[in-house]
Amino acid sequence: MIAAEQEGIATKGFAVHGPEAKFEPFNFARRKVGPNDVLIDIEYCGVCHSDIHQARGEWGNSTYPMVPGHEIVGTVKQVGSAVTKFNIGDIAGIGCFVDSCGTCKNCAAENEQFCKVHCVMTYNGTEMDETTPTYGGYSNQYVIKEAYALKVDPAQSRAGVAPLLCAGITTYSPLRKFGVKEGHKVGVVGLGGLGHMGVKLAVSMGADVTVFSTSPSKEADAKALGAQHFVVSRDADAMKALAGTYDFILDTVSADHDLNAYLNLLGLNGAMVIVGIPTKPAEIAAFSLIGNNRSLAGSGIGGIKETQEMLDYCAAHNITSDVEVITPDRIEEAYDRTVRSDVRYRFVIDMQGA
Ligand code: NAP
Ligand code: ZN
Repeated sequence: MIAAEQEGIATKGFAVHGPEAKFEPFNFARRKVGPNDVLIDIEYCGVCHSDIHQARGEWGNSTYPMVPGHEIVGTVKQVGSAVTKFNIGDIAGIGCFVDSCGTCKNCAAENEQFCKVHCVMTYNGTEMDETTPTYGGYSNQYVIKEAYALKVDPAQSRAGVAPLLCAGITTYSPLRKFGVKEGHKVGVVGLGGLGHMGVKLAVSMGADVTVFSTSPSKEADAKALGAQHFVVSRDADAMKALAGTYDFILDTVSADHDLNAYLNLLGLNGAMVIVGIPTKPAEIAAFSLIGNNRSLAGSGIGGIKETQEMLDYCAAHNITSDVEVITPDRIEEAYDRTVRSDVRYRFVIDMQGA
């Protein structure tokens, strides 16, 4: 018992041991709570498509055993002696990263996700020592520096808030950066976890939103989420009719697809931001960018300050994710359904049901 305490805090999780392996229960130790740490009792963890890409080794950066999960919400169970932001019993969130150097140019610019020294990813990464592996939110607890944990409004659905920690900030950040507002014509490509948050957020900012989808069956849902228009992206005539009419397009697609078809929809000075991460590099025709002075950009999650701003914005606008809550024995099924675009619109694992 004393030895276990010295080694850390016994934690139960679910891991894969290789790209083709199934999830299995996995016991490991979290570090003991240091002066600046909080221990979060995990209640819900969202299933992001990035979990699937990494668990299945699709990005070439996977280390095993892997406990995925970076859309985490739970209750603060223990606080270190120097902690000021949290009290025991507070609701807290953890997103895609849990530490960084805090002083480099990018950290100083509040974009810790691009720390020039080392950004500690919530899982499939290493601590600042670049050796100790990190394990994610498909587990019953997490120990994190308070500065990297987020405050969650206790009045909101905890299962519905969990996906905001990745899908929410990943879509909020580019919509804000490109100043999306009333009067803008915005396209959201792909209606999955990120896409449905992109729709809710763009609608809340006053934009006129079109969903571009490969799934005709999602039209009613897109409208219920607030989108004014729905286009089946495989309908070449419908796509042609919309050429040159959009101010901003957010591409959330997880699989290989033709970007030129969407770039051609942008009007004068229009911009398209890629947040989806297909495995193969895309081909871009120069004319797709040159016509109408178009821009193509990417965007990666968001810093801690902006993530908190997004959570506060969602609380003020009553925005949460539409979720299907599952028990941990259904992770494989959730992965397979997500890959088939059969998710409405985020699977969230009830970790207390572990
Ligand atoms: P998701 O829930 O699976 O949604 C992806 C959507 O893409 C699907 O619902 C589907 O929408 C569309 N799609 C799937 N296959 C397609 C195909 N072959 N052709 C065209 N469209 C297709 O995934 P997610 O969790 O939202 O994540 C989306 C992507 O963003 C992933 O690659 C993920 O790794 C990445 N991501 C990036 C960041 C970042 O910081 N940039 C953060 C989180 C996730 P329709 O049925 O409507 O066509
Ligand atoms: Zn994610």
